Amino acid sequence: MFGEQNVTESKYLKEVYRAYENGIPVVGPTYMGNVLGVNKTTAYQALQKLVKMNYGTYLKNKGFILGERGRDTARKLIRHHRLFECLIVDSLGLSPKEACREVDSMDIFMGEGISTALERKYESRRLCPCGNEIPEVKP
Ligand SMILES: [Zn+2]
Repeated sequence: MFGEQNVTESKYLKEVYRAYENGIPVVGPTYMGNVLGVNKTTAYQALQKLVKMNYGTYLKNKGFILGERGRDTARKLIRHHRLFECLIVDSLGLSPKEACREVDSMDIFMGEGISTALERKYESRRLCPCGNEIPEVKP
């Protein structure tokens, strides 16, 4: 679903969604810079790119807020991330925290075959091993 050129956008979308889940609906470049370990300017430019890609809007002096397309895409990414995390913890015995970190760099590249198989295997799961909700997505 995501090409190489979208790796950065996907990473940002996931973190914007996580912030939203934690009660932070508007994320500024300082917040994103801290979370992703990049400087404020880099984070600002990436958030502007999300706007250009129609994932949300940028409120001046405040930050980025997800729009409908951004939220749908982020939910799908986070869903795949958390289903994958279930598999890694169940089958390889990594701690949820380790699994989460490892999966963060792999979930973006997941193809349809794996995501479909994960959906089948974990269709009844509502929480990931870290205890976060696995978001439902529109079919
Ligand atoms: Zn995780």
